[in-house]
Amino acid sequence: MTGNARQVEAVLTVDLDAVVSNWRLLAEMAGRAECAAVVKADAYGLGAVHVSAALEAAGCRTYFVAHSREGFELRRTLRRNSRVFVLNGAPAGMERELAEAALTPVVNTLGDLAVWRSCAAATGKRLAVALQLDSGMARLGLAPEDVEMIAADEGLLHGLSVELVMSHLACADEEGHPANEAQRSTFERLRARLPDAPASLANSSGTFLGKGFHFDVLRPGAALYGINPTPWTSNPMRQTVGLRARIIQTRKVKAGTAVGYGHRAVVDRDTTLATISLGYADGWPRNAGAAAFHRGQPVPFLGRVSMDSIVLDMTGCTTMPREGDFVDLLCPGQNVDDIACAAGTIGYEILSRLGRRFHRNYVGPGGTGQ
Ligand SMILES: *Cc1c(COP(=O)(O)O)cnc(C)c1O
Repeated sequence: MTGNARQVEAVLTVDLDAVVSNWRLLAEMAGRAECAAVVKADAYGLGAVHVSAALEAAGCRTYFVAHSREGFELRRTLRRNSRVFVLNGAPAGMERELAEAALTPVVNTLGDLAVWRSCAAATGKRLAVALQLDSGMARLGLAPEDVEMIAADEGLLHGLSVELVMSHLACADEEGHPANEAQRSTFERLRARLPDAPASLANSSGTFLGKGFHFDVLRPGAALYGINPTPWTSNPMRQTVGLRARIIQTRKVKAGTAVGYGHRAVVDRDTTLATISLGYADGWPRNAGAAAFHRGQPVPFLGRVSMDSIVLDMTGCTTMPREGDFVDLLCPGQNVDDIACAAGTIGYEILSRLGRRFHRNYVGPGGTGQ
């Protein structure tokens, strides 16, 4: 903690060493394929600029963002020869700016392809493009009949250099799901209709489905950040985030005292309470019955999660907490997937929503080491 620790309500610690080590594990699995990094949504909330700087130093050369705005942000810090793909494509009218910033749109429709082609013609430069094919998710990407149109008329790619042909798996986190193999073979069939280009199918979970899913470029996001890419077995990734919040008030109450909004909790014995400075406005799910940890000991939540605070039952603690102490919310005893499970959602949602209000502490390469 820094000297101004008393001004800090909650601290999100991002372990860049762990992110890099997760990337290295996936890059090793990739073998001769390239391991890229998906850093959309501010690297799932961890901070895309910090994460990409650490990964670039480790040798990662290809990045995926969702929005062009995220791409412009990354371009300010990444090397010019690192590639940045924009998954949601170029917003209308922004093509020139994307081309100038060397951001490569992922084209999902023939309409978008035509616009990017005109941009290439107008700039007089050959422009990089990625083509996404819908291999069976019906979310984004060119349909089989669009692929046939391109196969029949190579003029549709005039002035463009296809850097990547990609598709996305709908059920990769279910190991035995028949859709995985169906999508893989559809992808093979469709990409064979297009000019030869590097191919990419696997996200984090897809990477664990076997070599047949790797093609030329892996596109992991979640696994880099410590979310379990193999829900069918234990998590091979390192945890990357820790979260601590400050106790802002403690009190002793008598048996029968009602606690918090709606008086949802009534204590059945004399109880020591501590209120921490963290709530659902920080992205903590309101519906997750959970615990915090005080010096490694679990201390359960009492009553409802408020916008900016949560009440804890400290009665069982061997060392009594003091106002100003910190408790752990994400720590070795409790990870993002645990909270997701308690809240009935997935680790992706918990992680990417963790608040902008936290003080962030980066440790590891490129971190401040505070
Ligand atoms: C988000 C995303 C990824 C990364 O997925 P993870 O499950 O987080 O590894 C890869 N490809 C596409 C197209 C995506 O939208």
